[in-house]
Amino acid sequence: DSILVWFRRDLRDSDHVALGEALRRGRRVHCAFLFDREILDPLPRRDDRRVDFIRQSLLELDTALRRRGGGLWVRHGWAAEEIPKLAGELGVAAVFANRDYEPQAKRRDAAVSAALHAGGIAFESFKDQAVLDGDEVLTQSGRPFTVFSPYKKAWLKRLTEDDWQPGEGEIGTLATPPGAQRVPALAELGFAATDLRALGFVPGMSGARQLLDDFLGRISRYRQQRDFPALKGVSYLSIHLRFGTVSIRELVSRAIAAGALRAGNEGAATWLSELVWRDFYFMILDRFPYVAERAFKPAYDAVAWEQGAPAEEAFAAWCEGRTGYPLVDAAMRQLNGTGYMHNRLRMVSASFLSKDLGIDWRRGEAYFAARLNDFDLAANNGGWQWAASSGCDAQPYFRIFNPVLQSERFDPAGKFIRRYLPELSAVPDRFIHAPWRMSPAEQEACGVRIGRETPAPLVDHQQARQLTLERYAVVKSPA
Ligand code: FAD
Repeated sequence: DSILVWFRRDLRDSDHVALGEALRRGRRVHCAFLFDREILDPLPRRDDRRVDFIRQSLLELDTALRRRGGGLWVRHGWAAEEIPKLAGELGVAAVFANRDYEPQAKRRDAAVSAALHAGGIAFESFKDQAVLDGDEVLTQSGRPFTVFSPYKKAWLKRLTEDDWQPGEGEIGTLATPPGAQRVPALAELGFAATDLRALGFVPGMSGARQLLDDFLGRISRYRQQRDFPALKGVSYLSIHLRFGTVSIRELVSRAIAAGALRAGNEGAATWLSELVWRDFYFMILDRFPYVAERAFKPAYDAVAWEQGAPAEEAFAAWCEGRTGYPLVDAAMRQLNGTGYMHNRLRMVSASFLSKDLGIDWRRGEAYFAARLNDFDLAANNGGWQWAASSGCDAQPYFRIFNPVLQSERFDPAGKFIRRYLPELSAVPDRFIHAPWRMSPAEQEACGVRIGRETPAPLVDHQQARQLTLERYAVVKSPA
C-alpha cells in the first residue's frame, strides 16, 4: 500500500513530518503539490511574488526529491477534485498532509478528506507547522490561553527535546513520477514574472539556509537591534516560515543551541519568544476562528470606524505612503516596493491606520494580506488586532503609539526614512520625523516644502488621539 504526501506550505524534503511519517511506515511514497485555484484565482495581482516564490521553491524541492529517487507530481486545480483524482490514479491507500490552522484550509481539508473517504482512501494530517498545537498548551483549567505571557510560560514548561527533533523516517521508498512531470511555468498558471530575485529574495531551502546561517552569526545582538528598521537586526526568515522552506523545529533547536533557555543569551531568548508568538497566533486562529472576521474581544465590534469620502482618501493616502508622517510613509513604501515590512513598522503603520485615521483595522489587514510576501492569516490578524487593541493583549486601548516619538526612538537619524523617501534626504535630522515643524525659511533652505515636495500631515496626532479615545469609549459601555 502506498501513500501520497500532499505538500502545501511545507516546501522542503527534510524534517517534514508528513513525509517522515509516510516513510517511517515503510511504504512507497508519492509526493504532490497542487496549485490551488481557490487560493490563486482571487489574487488581485498577476505579478504576485508569492506564486513565484512557491514555484521556484518547488523546482528545488523536485530536484531534491529526485536525488532521493522520487520527485513531485504537480497539479493545478481545485483541491477537492484534484487530490482525490490523483490519489485514485496512483492507487494509494492514504493521503498524508501537514496540518493547517486557517479556516479556509480547514474547510478544504474536510472536503478533501470526505471525498477521499468516499473512495475508500484515508486522510491523515500531522503537526508540522507549529511546535506545539491543539491541546498541548492549556491553562490549568484546561482552556486555551488568551494572553501571550502566561501562554509562553506554559509553552516553555511543556517543551521537551522531542518537540524539536527532526521529523525524519527512512524505511520506505520514494516513487518517481513519469519523466513528463514538471513544475509549470508562471505563464501556464496565469501569472507573470516578478522582481523577487532582483530584490534579493532567494526561494527554496537553499535561500532559507543562507538567511539562517547569516542570522545565527548575529543572533546574540537580536534583542538590541530588532526594533531598528535601518539595521540588519532581524532574521528575514518569515517568507521561508510561511512556505515551509525551513522547519520550525530546526529554528527552535538552533535558538536553544545558541542559549535561548540559559541565562546570558538574551538575543536567542528573545528570538525564541518571537517563534512562540507564531505558535500563539496559530493557536488563537485555530481555537477562535471568528477572529478572521471579528474582534477577538467582542465589545470592540461596537467601535464605529470612519466612513465616506474623506476616509476613502485617507485610506488611499495610507496605502500609497502619503500620510505626511515620514516613518509611516517610508514603511508603506517598503511594503509596496518589496513585499516586506519591518515588525516595528508593521506596528506603527497599523496603529496609525486604526488610531490616527480611525479606519477599520480589517481594511489594513486586507491590504497587508495582499502585499506581504510572508502573509500569514494567523500572524497578520493577530498583529492587526493587537494594534487596534481588539485582540489578545493586556494593554488598554488608550495606549496609543505616537508616530513621531516612535520615529525618533527607532529611526533616530532618519536613515530608514531617507532610504524609502529620498525626497526628504536634505531635511535636517532634527526635522526628519516631523518635517511640517520647519518654518517656511527652513523649508526653502533644504528645498523640501510642505504640500509640495512632501505632503502635509493628514491628521494632527493629538486631535486624532482624542477622537480615538471618544471612538473607543463604546468599549467601556457596550450597548
Ligand atoms: P524575526 O524578528 O527574525 O522573527 C522570526 C520569526 O518569528 C518570524 O519570521 C515570524 O515567523 C515569527 N514572528 C516574529 N514576530 C511575530 C509576531 N508578532 N507574530 C507572529 N509571529 C512572529 N508575520 C508574518 O509572518 N506574517 C504576517 O502576515 C504578519 N503580519 C503582521 C502584521 C502586523 C500588523 C504586525 C504588527 C505583525 C505582523 N507579523 C506577521 C509579525 C512580524 O512582523 C513578522 O513575522 C516579522 O516582521 C518577520 O520578519 P523576520 O522574519 O525578520 O522576523
